[in-house]
Amino acid sequence: MNDYSKLIFEKSFVNGEWINESDSKFEVINPFDLSVIGQVYNDDRLLVKKAIDVAHSAFKTWKKTSVKERSILMMKWYDLIVQNKIEIATIMTLESGKPFAESLGEIDYGANYIQWFAEEAKRNYGDVIPGFTSEKRIMVLKEPVGVVGAITPWNFPIAMITRKIAPALAVGCTVVIRPSEETPLTALAINYLAHEAGFPKGVINTVVGTNASEMGKELCENLKVSKISFTGSTTVGKILMQQCSDSLKKLSLELGGNAPFIVFEDADLDLAVKGAISGKFRFSGQTCVCVNRILVQENVYDAFVEKFTAAAKNLKLGNGLDSETQIGPLINQKAIDRMQEMIQDATSKGGEIKLGGNFVTPQFFEPTIIANANSEMLFAKNEIFGPIAPIFKFKTEEEAIEMANDTIYGLASYFYTKDLNRTWRVREALEYGIVGINDGLISSEMVPFGGVKQSGQGREGSKYGMDYYLDLKYICIGNVE
Ligand code: ADP
Repeated sequence: MNDYSKLIFEKSFVNGEWINESDSKFEVINPFDLSVIGQVYNDDRLLVKKAIDVAHSAFKTWKKTSVKERSILMMKWYDLIVQNKIEIATIMTLESGKPFAESLGEIDYGANYIQWFAEEAKRNYGDVIPGFTSEKRIMVLKEPVGVVGAITPWNFPIAMITRKIAPALAVGCTVVIRPSEETPLTALAINYLAHEAGFPKGVINTVVGTNASEMGKELCENLKVSKISFTGSTTVGKILMQQCSDSLKKLSLELGGNAPFIVFEDADLDLAVKGAISGKFRFSGQTCVCVNRILVQENVYDAFVEKFTAAAKNLKLGNGLDSETQIGPLINQKAIDRMQEMIQDATSKGGEIKLGGNFVTPQFFEPTIIANANSEMLFAKNEIFGPIAPIFKFKTEEEAIEMANDTIYGLASYFYTKDLNRTWRVREALEYGIVGINDGLISSEMVPFGGVKQSGQGREGSKYGMDYYLDLKYICIGNVE
């Protein structure tokens, strides 16, 4: 195996140094075999506060650096991540169970945000507005908001960090990252590479620890933090919003989803099956844009179920480090319990298991297909976040749209059709931030990622991504003679 150990660090990184305030440690577990792959100092609120102080003071100089200076540093960081891709992917697979090819893909995806915003930073234009009286001159400037707190989940250990901090750094903000306790090692490795790239002390800080709620409180309540950017569950998003209300802190939230995947009778069924396989089973279904409910029109229902089951049968379970593996382990026991509860619930309400349905020791779950799904079942309303694919039947386009929108979530949605008029009608009717038409893979640094309803607020990536880390300052020059 490659020498990934050179990028293993087991302490928080604050002010350009590895640091621990706490003496206790927590274990980072490989979900494939439950072995311990790291012992990380378990820091808490105190160190978060220290990191915020440091980031606050670094902001005073970082915001004054030229955009070219920041862009060059970001490009160096991008290069280092790409150069160390194999090592970082190994660490990522070890701590998350993600199949290695997917880890490599995520590193490109995550690094691309850095590259994109390094370029985009140069186009952070303001405006000149005509004076509203003849002697006035008016400008609008864009300024960095200040210190940004980034709270991130385990399912994309790099990309969820870079998607937040790349635009923040590009416009001149400094950051304090609190990564998931499940995947702290990948986060620390990329913070180290940022340091190697030459980012000044205090600009990028990562604090690791298991006390998510207290660490989150410090980030939300500390007046030196101007903005929180969070990716995770809707439940935690709501807590953070409440905690930020006292200081009216800016907030970007990328929360849960319940993605419908609609297959109309005129769809190319093979294409739809291919899309459903990747959209459902990527990272064992553990992403917020993963397909949650497959809705199939009645006259192609049986054919779709048959083809989809045949394709899913071939998915190979195993160690993420094994190049053949397509389905790795689930992240933790809680995830296994949720799968079992959902399957029990579905079968007790008439669901028919077409494939899988079983837990595999120590922490796998078989790709599972459930036909005859209905709106009473748990996954109709809840995010699955695992390899269960429930298939619902519908009669008309109107019914499909109603079913698709019948959720509190509004992140990703997908539909398959060859009818041009239908593509427009359905796209307009879907209450989602993202609509994939005849396509199951929709993420890129070049597009605005985010949801409506209780899937969150704000967008990440694209030309819009920097706006969420900027304040507008309107300048009025009067009495010009
Ligand atoms: P997931 O089920 O994907 O882990 P969570 O919303 O529980 O979703 O977690 C996303 C991130 O938020 C993780 O890093 C987790 O540790 C963190 N987290 C969980 N609870 C809180 C909280 N009360 N305050 C701040 N962060 C939290």
